[in-house]
Amino acid sequence: MQSAWQRFGVCSSCLKRQLNDLIKWQRRLIPGWIRSIYSETGKWERDYGLETRKKVEKWWLPRMKEQFCKTSETDKSRQKFYVLSMFPYPSGKLHMGHVRVYTISDTIARFQKMRGMQAMLDSLSDLPEWYGIKEMQANWIGDCVGCYLDFVLKVNGKETGEKLAAYTYTPEAIYGASHLYVLPDHRLLHGNSSLKEVLQSEFIPGKDCLTSVTAVNLLTKQEVPIVISAKSAFENYIDTKIGIPSTNPEDAAVAQNLGLSFSEVIETLPDGLETLVSSGEFTGMTRQEALKALTQQAKNKGVGGNLTSDKLRDWLISRQRYWGTPIPIIHCQTCGTVPVPYEDLPVELPNITTFTGKGASPLETVPEWINCSCPRCKGPAKRETDTMDTFVDSSWYYLRYTDPHNSDRPFNKALADYWMPVDLYIGGKEHAVMHLYYARFLSHFCYDQKMTKHKEPFYKLLVQGLIKSQTYKLTTTSQYLKREEIDLTGTEPVHIKTKEKLQVTWEKMSKSKHNGIDPEELVEQYGIDTMRLYILFAAPPEQDILWDAKTDAVPGVRRWQSRLWTLATKFIEARTSSTVPNPQLLNKKEKAEAKKIWEQKNLVVSEVTSYFTKDYLFNAAISRLMGLTNLLSQASQPLILHSAEFEDALATLCIMVAPMAPHIASELWKGLAHVQNKLCTYHKWDDDVLHQSWPKVDPEYLQQPDIIEMSVLINNKACGKVSMPRQVARNAEEVHELILQSELGIKHLQGRPIKKAFLSPRTALINFLVQE
Ligand SMILES: [Zn+2]
Repeated sequence: MQSAWQRFGVCSSCLKRQLNDLIKWQRRLIPGWIRSIYSETGKWERDYGLETRKKVEKWWLPRMKEQFCKTSETDKSRQKFYVLSMFPYPSGKLHMGHVRVYTISDTIARFQKMRGMQAMLDSLSDLPEWYGIKEMQANWIGDCVGCYLDFVLKVNGKETGEKLAAYTYTPEAIYGASHLYVLPDHRLLHGNSSLKEVLQSEFIPGKDCLTSVTAVNLLTKQEVPIVISAKSAFENYIDTKIGIPSTNPEDAAVAQNLGLSFSEVIETLPDGLETLVSSGEFTGMTRQEALKALTQQAKNKGVGGNLTSDKLRDWLISRQRYWGTPIPIIHCQTCGTVPVPYEDLPVELPNITTFTGKGASPLETVPEWINCSCPRCKGPAKRETDTMDTFVDSSWYYLRYTDPHNSDRPFNKALADYWMPVDLYIGGKEHAVMHLYYARFLSHFCYDQKMTKHKEPFYKLLVQGLIKSQTYKLTTTSQYLKREEIDLTGTEPVHIKTKEKLQVTWEKMSKSKHNGIDPEELVEQYGIDTMRLYILFAAPPEQDILWDAKTDAVPGVRRWQSRLWTLATKFIEARTSSTVPNPQLLNKKEKAEAKKIWEQKNLVVSEVTSYFTKDYLFNAAISRLMGLTNLLSQASQPLILHSAEFEDALATLCIMVAPMAPHIASELWKGLAHVQNKLCTYHKWDDDVLHQSWPKVDPEYLQQPDIIEMSVLINNKACGKVSMPRQVARNAEEVHELILQSELGIKHLQGRPIKKAFLSPRTALINFLVQE
């Protein structure tokens, strides 16, 4: 087993290259924490203008590397959260889609870490995101409606040693078989097939050709001829099927045309029930009974009978490409194909600097890699130059990530069992059937081999939308134009050369459509935090982003960072004055103002936490945080100086910004931490912002006596009201829980599966959609 796994490419140079590519980029996007500019220079910039922003981000860049590459021991006593973004195709150029997926996954990972994992068990009950994909996969796999049965082939009454599995939708009628039907491109007619010659000599394209090759059914011992089909394709992915005239009129027509003999095996009784005749021991059974009994017997004898889909096909894993894990096989003229000895694994790819993209595998251009000695006879031999499909690597990398430095085995079972399944897998919908299907297949395989405890590899799937931007096309020729060919100054864009009006549409960014945007350029122009915030603010993860830097989103998130900076600056300046902060000095009006800040902070904490855990609506979370920023910006000077509520709300705001915009949050936090005479002592001021605990709603906030009546609807029908604290009434999860525990809930909802609940905090109404 282990050796088989090594062959699957542990630590292959291919994966290493992929990782390097990825790390290089993640270093740009993901900061760590060491020291701030403020703690180093003792000087706080008043303004978060372009210069400061660049300074802050530049400061963090080299420090990220250290933090990101540091590996930590797995602490199994802690609850884990495994968030994974789909791997980029290694030979492709990184683009805005990657920036989006890493920003989302990094934000969630940081949030979960700060949260200490207490998001997680509750959500086990619902897995809506997977379901659409599951359907797509089920469609792709198809229904298991038939089975293969095994045959041995004969030529002129002599066994050839060739075995053939043929598909049928009606295995119960197998005694009525008249022929085996193969396609002209079947392997038996090509390659090394021992029957190639005889079959080719009897083959006339475009005609059903009866051949002298016969097939003996290993279950029934019946012998039928092989017919090469006039067709070039059968249903779905079948290339060999059993002709049974009793159940298929087409098969009956072929048999009649070719004069083949067969028995009728289905009899219809007066009541319409179909039973079997002339079918050996299955005679007299209904079709359904016979199907069950016959496939079971075939399975017992090992001659087929497993119900499968006609859509299933082989997974072609060997390709003539450089990218991919080398197939560890050596070809020797004397010994034939010889596996690379275990101790010589893994076979690593050679370095190749130029790719032509043409002809055979690029590996053939590296003689020093290809030429080797045969492990058996030590004579000159050559390495296999085909590599495995990159799907092979992406089918198990999530397991390797749980134990990336293991040089002995693919992964340690205990570590894989601790980390798996991936709690949240983020990627594009285009991978729904191929990659996700192969990944699930390999995970099921590992489970069957007792290599892992978990069968399904991905617990929750977040399918991210595309990033689209505008394309400009000539209506006459449908040619896409470059930006410099377009005149955008008028009311409508026109072609500079011909003044022709253009067709403008939103499309996925692509080089050929001249609407791509280089992430590097954007980072240079706007900064990393602005990019991250823009990506998160422009649309919920599952929706497409329509990229238009001129719209409000980019300037909006830039202005917000400036406001945050100004707010912290005000606080730092107030607190570095000679006045010692003292909440007792606040008058009645100011105390009421402080209470409002405290309430608002709690509300925002509750809402943002919910957005981060439920639907990943970062755009809504940012809106709430912007709202809190505005409220704090309006605070009066005495409040900034003397209010513990203000100090706490500002610190909390900074913590909640950190997973999304870690550079600015890190520097801001250091600025706040520097202030003497803190009024809130419960924040860990000596630690980084990213090491703070995610804020919780204060218990007193939930205990406020202010009671409201929540109207409860079930399937849009009013059922009554439940009293609850006004503050609770804004949190969908808590309202849900309270109602379930109420008399009304016990009466109307207990034991009924709730599909969804919609809360409208403004009108104090919750509507449960319940399965009838
Ligand atoms: Zn040899």
